Amino acid sequence: MKAIAVIPKQKNSVHLVEMDKPKLDEIKDGRGVLVEVLRVGACGTDREINNGEYGVAPEGFEFLVLGHENFGRVAEVGANVKELKAGDFVVATVRRPFGHSIYDTIGQQDFTTDAEYWERGISRLHGYMAECYVESADFLIKIPPAIAEIAVLLEPLSIIEKGLKQAEDIQKRLDIWQPKTAAVLGIGSVGILTAMALRMRGYEVHGFGRDARNGYFNAELLEEIGATYDSTAESSVVDSVAKYGQYDLIFECTGFSPIIFDAMQSLNENGILILASVTGGERKTDAVPSDKINQMFVLGNRAMVGTVNANREHFEMGVKDLALCEAMFAGWLGKMMTHKIVGLENFAEAFDVLNNAGKYKAIKAYFEVNKI
Ligand SMILES: [Zn+2]
Repeated sequence: MKAIAVIPKQKNSVHLVEMDKPKLDEIKDGRGVLVEVLRVGACGTDREINNGEYGVAPEGFEFLVLGHENFGRVAEVGANVKELKAGDFVVATVRRPFGHSIYDTIGQQDFTTDAEYWERGISRLHGYMAECYVESADFLIKIPPAIAEIAVLLEPLSIIEKGLKQAEDIQKRLDIWQPKTAAVLGIGSVGILTAMALRMRGYEVHGFGRDARNGYFNAELLEEIGATYDSTAESSVVDSVAKYGQYDLIFECTGFSPIIFDAMQSLNENGILILASVTGGERKTDAVPSDKINQMFVLGNRAMVGTVNANREHFEMGVKDLALCEAMFAGWLGKMMTHKIVGLENFAEAFDVLNNAGKYKAIKAYFEVNKI
């Protein structure tokens, strides 16, 4: 079968490989599932791995098959798989509990404290940019056929769901927390999905980005589900408080770390700030009003938390939000899927879109590997 691979840490090494089709008995306990890949999303992580920034090949391989945002159809199941059958749609989770930390042991590998981790398409395990894959049923989420068209968005959404679940868990410190307003900083594909998940929870949502509002499709999408958009090129997030009030919840996904200090100053009393940007650079910032921020956090019982990766329960939460969103705003999620690349062999087209997302006005690029 065909697959898209890179040589980890080697810049622009993306290429097509021919591999043996995986077999059901690679999973020893009869819990194996053979999945025909239908769609695979391509994102900044794939771009960064192809840039040689990170990525680890599986043991015994020189290359790593890319792809973590997946959607497929069950082709065959092992003897001990009762919850899935051939023809079912599924999305696979990404990280596996193969580390040594206590969190891996208890199935919370998204909280691993190990330096090494096992993630399909990213680190030590081949990904889903292939014609098919085999996985244990334990790591597969069943997808209702009604959301098949947009289910490739579930993996990126799962990261957001984990962030929101953490906020909810942390806010249990308050016997009553009735959040009403939220700010979403950064409205790329992650920010748009965050705004959606917050709208599904009934929040008044305010999105922020650097682009001017005029002609900005991402902002139009926000407005279609009842959120607002403001450009930080015109006024800062801190200034927006005069217009919208302080935010009960802020979700940061810009990739521009200095903005977190603006976010900290825009949070309501008892509010929570969720940080989800992976900022691998060396950017520094000064002019941080540290007395003010510290005092706000102390006197206002504010909280801030970082979040990464996701677990099965977060994927399951995401399925519900996707289904609810389709029910409330039919066809809206599909508008996010701006760039379809037909066939794995056209990988160069996908990486051109990823490398020039601004030029193409891309929100989500994805491969159609097989027809739904
Ligand atoms: Zn991704």
